[in-house]
Amino acid sequence: MSTFAGSNSDILKLQPKLIVHGGAWNIPAAYEQDHLHGVQTAVSEVYPQLLAGASALDAVEAAVRILEEDPTFDAGRGAFLNEAGQVELDAMIMDGATLQVGAVAALQNVLHPVSVARRVMEKTEHCLLVAEGALRFAKSMGFEELAPEELLTARELKFFEEIKNQEGFKTHHPFLNAPSDTVGAVALDCFGNLAAATSTGGTARKMVGRVGDSPIPGAGAYADNALGAVSATGWGESIMRVLLSKTVCDLFENNEAMEAARMGIEHLAQKVQGFGGIIGISAKGHYAFSHNTPKMAFCFADPDGSTNAFIKCPR
Ligand code: ASP
Repeated sequence: MSTFAGSNSDILKLQPKLIVHGGAWNIPAAYEQDHLHGVQTAVSEVYPQLLAGASALDAVEAAVRILEEDPTFDAGRGAFLNEAGQVELDAMIMDGATLQVGAVAALQNVLHPVSVARRVMEKTEHCLLVAEGALRFAKSMGFEELAPEELLTARELKFFEEIKNQEGFKTHHPFLNAPSDTVGAVALDCFGNLAAATSTGGTARKMVGRVGDSPIPGAGAYADNALGAVSATGWGESIMRVLLSKTVCDLFENNEAMEAARMGIEHLAQKVQGFGGIIGISAKGHYAFSHNTPKMAFCFADPDGSTNAFIKCPR
C-alpha cells in the first residue's frame, strides 16, 4: 500500500481510498450522464475529507448521504415504490475496525437511512431495526419525519403507474429496464481502517415489508480490516443467498482484488443464477469492482483526488 507523510510529518499516514456505486442494472443511455455525475460528485466531495484525516466510517456515510439526496438513485429521495405505492428504505453501515454494524429496513419517511443505520450501530445494543421501530428510533435521534411525498419523484410515480397492474411482473424484471438503482460506498482511511455502506429503496413493486440484501451484514455490505470491505447492488434475493459481500471479502485473502470481485460475481451467477455488482477495497488497499448486469455506475478516487467514473467495467 502506498504511503504519504501527513501535515504532521512524524506521523506516517496511509494513502486513503474511496469508491462509490450508483447501482448495477441496464442503465438506459438517457440516464447515464446523471448516474456518472452523481457518483463523481460523491467522490469529489468526500475524498478530500479522507485526505484531511476523516475516518472511513464518516466518509462512507457522507458519500451515501450525497447519493441518497440525489433523485437519480433508488435510495432516499427517488426510491422505488412498493406494491402499495409507498417508499420503504433499507440501509446499513459497517466498521471494518470493530466489525460493528448498524442497519435499518423498511424505514419510511426519512431522507438519510444510512445515518439512522449509523445511530443504530453507535447508540443501541442492536444491529438492525425495522419499519415502525426504526422510524420511532430515528425520530428519537432527531431525524425529521418527512411527508411521504417528499421522497417521491415524478419519475418513480410514472414508473409505478406503468408496472402496477402489469401481469406476470416480477420484482427482478426492472433490473433490465427501470429508472434508478441502489447506492453504496467503500473507504479506506489514512489510519488503515475500512468501512462500507449501502442504501436502497429496494426493488420496484416489492411486497410491503420486503427486505432486500442491502441491510443484511455480509449480503449488502461487509467490512473487516483484516480482509477488505465491499458494497453490493443487484437482485437482492440472489445476493443474500450467497452473502455476496462477505464472499468477496473472504476471496480478497488469497486473490488479487479484481480477481476476487470477478470470482464473487461468477459465484453469484453460477450458484443462484443471480445478477448484480460489487465495489470494494481489499485489506492491501486495492480497488475491486465487477458486475454481470449490462452496466454499473461507479467511481473511485486517484491519490491526487482525480475521479474515475464508469458506467460499466472497462474490459
Ligand atoms: N439490492 C437491492 C435490493 O434488492 C436493489 C439494488 O441493488 O438495486 O433491495
